[in-house]
Amino acid sequence: MVEIDLSGKRALVMGVTNEHSLAWPIAQKLREAGVSLAFSYQGERLREKLHKLTADIPGVLLYEVDVTNESALQAMFADLKEKWGSLDYLVHSIAYAPRPAMEGRFIETTAADWNIALQVSAYSLVAAAREAEPLLNPGGAIITLTYYAAEKVVPKYNVMAIAKAALEASVRYLAYELGPKNVRVNAVSAGAARTVAAMSIPGFRKMTAKYSAIAPLKRMITHEEVGNLGFYLLSPLSSGTTGQTVYVDAGYSIMGMDLSEGE
Ligand code: NAP
Repeated sequence: MVEIDLSGKRALVMGVTNEHSLAWPIAQKLREAGVSLAFSYQGERLREKLHKLTADIPGVLLYEVDVTNESALQAMFADLKEKWGSLDYLVHSIAYAPRPAMEGRFIETTAADWNIALQVSAYSLVAAAREAEPLLNPGGAIITLTYYAAEKVVPKYNVMAIAKAALEASVRYLAYELGPKNVRVNAVSAGAARTVAAMSIPGFRKMTAKYSAIAPLKRMITHEEVGNLGFYLLSPLSSGTTGQTVYVDAGYSIMGMDLSEGE
């Protein structure tokens, strides 16, 4: 096993709701490597939960930031600058689309639903990267979480798929602009995993049954596997990789057709 010591490094993790959130195992891996941690959560509703979940992390910083509130975002980075001086890693693990936009037909997507989904799920990465840029040390890295529906049609994903496509393109443009500063930007494309956000996708349970049948590994992914890939893409182990969408999906995305029922 490769052990990496990243003590002295600092990471901001945006988008932990509970221990099932995909950002949580990434934060755990960073912590195991000695990284100091800060978390941002959307609102008051999560405050007590996040305080409990992170209570045993020495020196942890917590910020209440709804990413649609740019002044709150700026205030968080100003405070991080004051407390830490600089930053090494940013984990963006945030997505939202109004439920009606995912229940109905894609063609019926309203401008309002489109705008909020794209703002929260894609633009927020750009806004956070912009605020983080002056703080990020050379060797630093940013990751975000995406999903296969950005590339291929996954029924019901609808406007969220468009947001993920915008997110993945944003990763490439951010990687291009931050690369000369030796800051890398990558996306973790995770297979279906049970989280609060996932359970709000119409038909998610049905999707998971199909998932295990089709994926070459014949199972869903584990949260720990997402943590491992996230950690790898932040750590110097991936120092030559930037602007990429990297899959941790039990191989699902390589399949063009599934004939297993007919075998
Ligand atoms: P999660 O635990 O529900 O995380 C989503 C996070 O986004 C929550 O913390 C949520 O906060 C936050 N959020 C939503 N709107 C926000 C806003 N306006 N401001 C700040 N935070 C906001 O679910 P997750 O599955 O781990 O999702 C994390 C990322 O992984 C998402 O980008 C998701 O699309 C991606 N992903 C998930 C899967 C999967 O199968 N689970 C697969 C591929 C990719 P609240 O709880 O307060 O709403």
